[in-house]
This record gives sequence, structure tokens and C-alpha cells, in this order.
Amino acid sequence: MRVGARTDVGRLRTSNQDVGFADERLGLFVVADGMGGHNGGEIASQTAVKALVDFPWDTVKEPRDLQEPFARANLAVWQKAGNSESLKGMGTTLTLAKVVGEKVFIGHVGDSRAYVIHGDGCSKQLTDDHSVVGQLVRDGRLTEGEARLHPQRNLLTNALGTHPDVMVDVTSIRPAGDDIILLCTDGLVNEVAVDEMAEICLHSSDLQIAADRLVGLANERGGRDNITVVIFSLK
Ligand code: MG
Repeated sequence: MRVGARTDVGRLRTSNQDVGFADERLGLFVVADGMGGHNGGEIASQTAVKALVDFPWDTVKEPRDLQEPFARANLAVWQKAGNSESLKGMGTTLTLAKVVGEKVFIGHVGDSRAYVIHGDGCSKQLTDDHSVVGQLVRDGRLTEGEARLHPQRNLLTNALGTHPDVMVDVTSIRPAGDDIILLCTDGLVNEVAVDEMAEICLHSSDLQIAADRLVGLANERGGRDNITVVIFSLK
């Protein structure tokens, strides 16, 4: 397996509310982008990822089995938010990839993204953005380019930890040998086009260098948000 991961505060923010996690042994790869005033965003994303890491992953045999780790992560954030006035309303995006045999299960809440990048440079987004602009793009009322500049691009329609229950999208793919799976937060999506992500992943000597270059490029273009990318390939 090849793996690369990097998170960065960016050039405008003072704190990093994103989390990136990659564990080859668990076959678990995660990005989370927290939100909520004060320290809420940071705490929400870290709490959610910790709940996932603690989950007994050998129980996951089918894509629908991802509902349980998401439910636990949701409850962990929801309960922590309920215990403190200053953390009230905090939440996080959560996009994960779990390797199960030759398959990769994807679980997703929010507007972080998962892509599969094929050896020929073609790529496919595996997740729907749970955001107001994401819905407008799916309805054909905004282009992807317009969405990246839209003033309301940060408005989520679904997040983890903001309600006692969470709605999770799950899907499964069987990657071809040289396919690369890329997870990232909107701090990368809003600065770097997917064709550029594919180009960098396919033409870097290893995936850690690719992750470093992607974060570097997002920062060169302004680094307006925290930037996180987690990349892996089964071969
Ligand atoms: Mg963000």
C-alpha cells in the first residue's frame, strides 16, 4: 500500500480545525473539517476522529456497517457539545475510506470529498457535497467553478455532531490496481482543481510528496482555509 497525508493551517486562519488520519494497518483513512466558534471546530473534528479510531473495525463487513462508527462519532461530538455552553452547535464534516479485502468502503457526511483517480488521469468524485451550493450544482443551477467562488459555499446541509442522529452516505468501490483514492477538505477543493490533483498524484515519486505538493499549491493560491489531504493506493 502507498500512503500520503498532510494537514496545514493555511495562510489566513490562526488555528487548524481540520484533522487528517491515515492508518495503513487498520486500512482506515479519514478527513474531518470542524466548525463552531471558539475552539469548537477543533474539538469537534478531533473528537469525531478519536471515536472512529477507537471503533472495533473488524466488525465492518458491508458498506452499511459504517453507520455504526458514524453514529458513535456523532454521539461523541453531540454529547460533548451538550456539556458546554461554549461548544454548543459545534460539528464537523467526516469522510472516511475503509479498506475491506479488495474493496474500499466510503462513508461521508458534509462537504469534504473522496475521489478515485485512475491511472489515465480520469477521476471521479465518490461523495456528494452536503451543502447549499453542492445541491445547486447537482440541480444544474451552478457550475463547479461558480460553486468554488460562491459566498455561501460554506453553508452545510448536513454535519456530524449537530443533532442526536446523523444521516450518512455510504458507498463501495473495488479499485483497479493503480487507482488512487484521495480524501480532502474544502480548503484543497476551493484552491486546486481535480484535474490538477490527479496530475500531481500520478506524477509525484510517492504519495507523501504528492500530499505535500497539493498543500503547497493550495497555499500558493491563497491558502484561505485549513487544507487537508489523505491519499492512498492499494498497490
Ligand atoms: Mg474547510
